Amino acid sequence: MNYLSTRGGVREISFQDAVMMGLADDGGLLLPSSIPSLNAGDLESFEKLAYPELAFQIFSRFTGQFPAADLKDLIDRSYANFSHPEVTPVSHQDGVYLLELFHGPTLAFKDVALQFLGNLFEHLLRKKGREMNIIGATSGDTGSAAIYGVQGKEKIRIFILHPYGKISPIQKLQMTTVTEPNVFNIAIRGNFDDGQRIVKEIFGDLDFKARYSLGAVNSINWARVMAQIVYYFYAWGRVRRETGCDSIYFSVPTGNFGDIFAGYMAKRMGLPVRRLIIGTNENNILSRFVNDGEYAIGSVVPTLSPSMDIQVASNFERYLYYLYQEDPNSVGRALEEFGRTGKIRFDEEERKTIRQDFLAQSVDRQMTLETIRDFYSSTGTILDPHTAVGVRAGKDLSGGEVPVVCLATAHPAKFGDAVREAIGKDPDRPASLEGIENRERRCEVLDASVSAIREFIARKAS
Ligand SMILES: *Cc1c(COP(=O)(O)O)cnc(C)c1O
Repeated sequence: MNYLSTRGGVREISFQDAVMMGLADDGGLLLPSSIPSLNAGDLESFEKLAYPELAFQIFSRFTGQFPAADLKDLIDRSYANFSHPEVTPVSHQDGVYLLELFHGPTLAFKDVALQFLGNLFEHLLRKKGREMNIIGATSGDTGSAAIYGVQGKEKIRIFILHPYGKISPIQKLQMTTVTEPNVFNIAIRGNFDDGQRIVKEIFGDLDFKARYSLGAVNSINWARVMAQIVYYFYAWGRVRRETGCDSIYFSVPTGNFGDIFAGYMAKRMGLPVRRLIIGTNENNILSRFVNDGEYAIGSVVPTLSPSMDIQVASNFERYLYYLYQEDPNSVGRALEEFGRTGKIRFDEEERKTIRQDFLAQSVDRQMTLETIRDFYSSTGTILDPHTAVGVRAGKDLSGGEVPVVCLATAHPAKFGDAVREAIGKDPDRPASLEGIENRERRCEVLDASVSAIREFIARKAS
């Protein structure tokens, strides 16, 4: 299996090189040169597999020459850290199926991919005899999942910038209580946008990038998408076993389009998904894209589901590539139009395709709180605010004819404020957060300037 860029400037690179490259060198995103296709027999055999076995079946269709024994070992170690024996169990509650993706070490779905990516990076670097310095900015969930993915790993250091005083107490504790010597938490005196700008500028300095062999862990890395494809197959198998239904809906609370794009890949591989349902919060560029047939930027507003407070979805480009029949020139033209006008328009034929792939709904603050409250009163289960967005969209749009699987992307304990506002009580704390306030912490507070961060990295990385 080879990989290519959505912009046409990179082709025929291996899985290993695609993982190490992260963002394609021409500025595009990497994709497999063809989508592996599965038949009914494959699907039926998948139904019987435990999560790590299923992951091996899916990954090995994307990894080309990667030795099977190494891949199996990486998968086993990545999912042994999950607190549930099924890794991503499915439960049937209040008329929907919840796909529980929050049993990893940092209690959000990002662990499913980042536990694997951390092990994969370590493996590839060891083979090449190279080191890597990972740099990223976070508004909360990605930072902790990435840190937990690489803590204590050989040949990798990680530098995560978060805005000082502007992330939730639990998110801050999850990051700063990791005191392994290869982990550097940096609180910058600024906001999330400052962090992202600094990281971008540092990556843009190609000399510095090469000298310190910088690496990225955000959701543009192909391995993250690949790892997320697995749970769509897993959930489908569990639901089919229970209901006998072949065709189902998935409802996905969406920000950067990474999680739902994995669902799109699963559908293209042959999983009988009727439609993928996009749930957005008030930052609803993606639901407007589906419902109005126009991808038009707005401004970011803070919401109850902060991990989806995003306007420009970085993985959207991957979908555009398929919408434009795998033509990189059309992708380039569309992105140029977006850069110039803040908008991409779609013709009638394209809109038809979009509506065959997706349904979408924007779920505001009031609806989110109402959904947490109603779900709790009928089941006793507390949804986190991101999950609530997906559950609401899933219930409203699936029509009840065929099962709908709602992706539960975080544990409610990570977002206690929203839960308290909805139901007037705190969610129970899972064991991994017990006593977290009393653990040793390590964090550097630095000015939000490129030079301060660059200096810090140069000092620690040598
Ligand atoms: C990151 C995140 C999302 C959004 O996922 P995307 O892949 O960016 O669409 C949803 N819920 C939670 C809890 C998250 O951390």
